[in-house]
Amino acid sequence: MPHYCTLIPGDGIGPEVAEATVRAVEATGVDIRWKRAELNEAIILESGKTLPQYLLDSLNETRVGLKGPVTTPVAGGFQSVNVALRKTLDLFANVRPVSTLPGIKTRFQDVKIDMVIFRENTEDLYSGLEHEIVKDVVTSLKVITRTASHRIAQYAFEYARRNGRKHVAAIHKANIMKLADGLFLRCCREVAQEFPDIQYKELIVDNASMQLVMRPETFDVLLLPNLYGDIVSDLAAGLVGGLGIVPGANMGETHAVFEAVHGSAPDIAGQGKANPTALMMSSVMLLIHIGEPDAARRLRHAIEAVYLDGTRLTADVGGSASTGEFTDAVLRQLRR
Ligand code: ATP
Repeated sequence: MPHYCTLIPGDGIGPEVAEATVRAVEATGVDIRWKRAELNEAIILESGKTLPQYLLDSLNETRVGLKGPVTTPVAGGFQSVNVALRKTLDLFANVRPVSTLPGIKTRFQDVKIDMVIFRENTEDLYSGLEHEIVKDVVTSLKVITRTASHRIAQYAFEYARRNGRKHVAAIHKANIMKLADGLFLRCCREVAQEFPDIQYKELIVDNASMQLVMRPETFDVLLLPNLYGDIVSDLAAGLVGGLGIVPGANMGETHAVFEAVHGSAPDIAGQGKANPTALMMSSVMLLIHIGEPDAARRLRHAIEAVYLDGTRLTADVGGSASTGEFTDAVLRQLRR
């Protein structure tokens, strides 16, 4: 039986890394049929819709998406595509495994980093509820609910148990936001009690940031509300070689969309310089999700072998290869 997957190449470096990833996934031999759905800044501006109907129809049909980045203007303009997609499809869990790739040269190359970040994906300061009360005075509402906090905690603990992870750290700022982060923490504690086999601890987000830099190897599963999750994910990506290599998944009850942590990187778009590892690693998660663990393992090993060899790496991780040369090297490894 073929698998059907919605492919959203996106814009900026999106189409380049998406093409590379499609080549890699197809080289595993898995029968996957892509339903291509274009989405970029121009289409959104022209249609006036952040999420065109054809995109939602396709995702409702396939239930699985592989997505490149789509540019979000920094201020004004339309709502972020990612935020809209997560809210519309109720993709409540953002999952980001961050681990050291063999052979990669980073400041932390002597340390074995292997953590998984669970970021709540639907609320917090991403509620989009901003208001100018009087001229030059703005409020931005942080929304934390029991339902959303409880289900991301449940998801993280279940993942930890299923994958033999030892401990979960809930990260918060409840000393300042006593009600909002207080509720998030209460939910984490309640769920933790149902998982006595998993150690549970709490860290204030500023302390957690320092600990991540000083002792990254001590982290296992991290559980965070939306905004801290966003920031800590980029920090964690920096520990293992940058945004070019860290994958991500947005998981809901019915749909899943796999995408890299990085944005559309307009500074290097169209130059063949983008590192496709992050989206390829996201496709490894996708393959596991659709029930192709063997193909997932082979693709991950092929990527790791290219890093171990070290001669076909892109510039962001210290090499000089193009997107295509890196991808060719992954394909060669897959054929071995
Ligand atoms: P967004 O706000 O859309 O999340 P961002 O601010 O996180 O975007 P990115 O577009 O991810 O920014 O880019 C940040 C930096 O990392 C840029 O200098 C970019 O060139 C680099 N970068 C991001 N992704 C990659 C990649 N896949 N390969 C190489 N460099 C990358």
